[in-house]
Amino acid sequence: MNEPFGHPRPHGEPVIVDCPPAEKMESDFRGNDGLRTDWTREEITVLFDLPFLDLLFQAQQAHRRSHAPNEVQLSTLLSIKTGGCPEDCGYCSQSAFAKSGLKAEKLMDVDAVLVAAAEAKASGSGRFCMGAAWREPKDRDMDKICAMVSGVKAMGLETCMTLGMLSEPQAERLAEAGLDYYNHNLDSSPEYYAEVITTRTYQERLDTLERVRSAGMSVCCGGIVGMGETRQDRIGFLHTLATLPAHPESVPINALVPIRGTALGDRLIEEQNTRIDDIEFVRTVAVARITMPRSMVRLSAGRESMSETTQALCFLAGANSIFTGDKLLTAGNAGAGADAALFEKLGLVPMTSEEPARVAAQ
Ligand code: SF4
Repeated sequence: MNEPFGHPRPHGEPVIVDCPPAEKMESDFRGNDGLRTDWTREEITVLFDLPFLDLLFQAQQAHRRSHAPNEVQLSTLLSIKTGGCPEDCGYCSQSAFAKSGLKAEKLMDVDAVLVAAAEAKASGSGRFCMGAAWREPKDRDMDKICAMVSGVKAMGLETCMTLGMLSEPQAERLAEAGLDYYNHNLDSSPEYYAEVITTRTYQERLDTLERVRSAGMSVCCGGIVGMGETRQDRIGFLHTLATLPAHPESVPINALVPIRGTALGDRLIEEQNTRIDDIEFVRTVAVARITMPRSMVRLSAGRESMSETTQALCFLAGANSIFTGDKLLTAGNAGAGADAALFEKLGLVPMTSEEPARVAAQ
């Protein structure tokens, strides 16, 4: 069996002297009288403005109160239906509006998805995420989708899907099929959102998140930075996430990979504004960690173009989840071999602990 990340360290084994064992951390957060969902934009601005080292110190302290410090969750993402999406997300090569040359494909067969899930499990992933380039799933596709969920779940993997907007009955069917997580990103601040997407509203996204919650699934919700937004927008984006009725259990933070042929990619390449400053990216991760202390903060797209040092700073700032594999939907990813080498260098191990936000919700 291919085990690129070596053998996970037993749960809770202390490696750093001031890190309490995981059992202690668990009881601490269970005894906690709840998480703040009343952050103000002013407070988040103050965090962003902290001296970098103070910010990282605070983020690392917040991280250690709820998470095993050297564990990083590994997930694999598979595109189960690529291209031809009717939405106009300006960053996305799968949009029918993009001139990226990406061909629209049909929904994959259940068996092919299960083969990919088995490979992901063999490579050390604990979660298998499936993404479809849809505005929303059609009811006629739901049987196939649910069969994918229950099949992947039966392998002992956690399941996550991102299929666009959901109706209430669709959310309930997915929950019944055993879907653990539903991903639906807010992408940016409410103010900057219309610069990026015009075919669905911010409120429609919030409504889908609400349906996912009501159906009893965990929420994966984050966004993308480096889309030409200002720091105020990054503040507004994290403020929206941290003031949802409950923090998303998983918060992916993507750094835009500008793609030629997409509206945003062409614009940013033209402006020679092709990537967010690394330190500003790390700051964004740190503020996410402080404001949503129990959530899994996930480094997603854009990681392949980050140096090892920047990734290490992101882990120090509280990121504790990554996608592995060579492809992230259609964009490049760091690749399992490079990740295994980085884990070795940093003394990181694949996560074996429970996710604190989900334990607390039980
Ligand atoms: S991000 Fe998702 S919804 Fe937007 S165009 Fe791409 S596939 Fe469609």
